[in-house]
Amino acid sequence: MQITADHVTSFLQLVAERVKEQREYLTRLDAAIGDADHGVNLDRGFSTVMSKLPTATDRSISGLLKLTGMTLISTVGGASGPLYGTAFLRAGTAIGDRATIGAEELIAALSAALEGIQTRGKATRGEKTMIDAIAPAIDALKEQYAASGDLLAAMRAAVTACEQGMIATEPMLATKGRASYLGERSIGHRDPGAASAFLMAQAMLATLERAVQG
Ligand code: ADP
Ligand code: MG
Repeated sequence: MQITADHVTSFLQLVAERVKEQREYLTRLDAAIGDADHGVNLDRGFSTVMSKLPTATDRSISGLLKLTGMTLISTVGGASGPLYGTAFLRAGTAIGDRATIGAEELIAALSAALEGIQTRGKATRGEKTMIDAIAPAIDALKEQYAASGDLLAAMRAAVTACEQGMIATEPMLATKGRASYLGERSIGHRDPGAASAFLMAQAMLATLERAVQG
């Protein structure tokens, strides 16, 4: 299957909806080990993306991803705004001027997004951040796609790995970001950024499922 700019628009709309629905949940997670703004921040960012979409001039896949990235950087704030913003910008750059993309290009774009988050935030796995949800998801995506050649099956495996990665942040000690200020008291709480990353992974899977059904 080929992924089009319309699919990317649907994905962004779904993320915006889910973030709005889950705003209190994400903020509650951030209240426990941060400053209670993660859901509010992301909702502000994706709502602004939605308001900009109708008048966007570059409606290519990379144009939409870059618009999203720049908007998240300028409106979300906190640690997660620049991190998610960089992820969308890197994905857009990886896709370049392709009008549509296949599975390989999608996987390359997601890998570039993760690299962007790692370069910008300097966190590695096990530090109780969004990386603990995203990195295992991309590993599973690559492995399952290599084994089956089935993007939808691979994305389902990625979402499962993402959820497990998110849950695995609960017993972790935070050593990056605001939660690290709590030291041992960060243990026993789910990382908010891992939870928002899982929400985006679910939205990606739902978009692909709808696209395949036509
Ligand atoms: P802030 O902590 O500045 O208030 P948010 O609440 O929006 O920002 O986002 C917090 C989330 O950002 C954390 O739950 C974590 O997943 C993520 N995060 C923080 N620092 C880093 C980092 N250096 N690398 C990757 N992710 C990070
Ligand atoms: Mg916060």
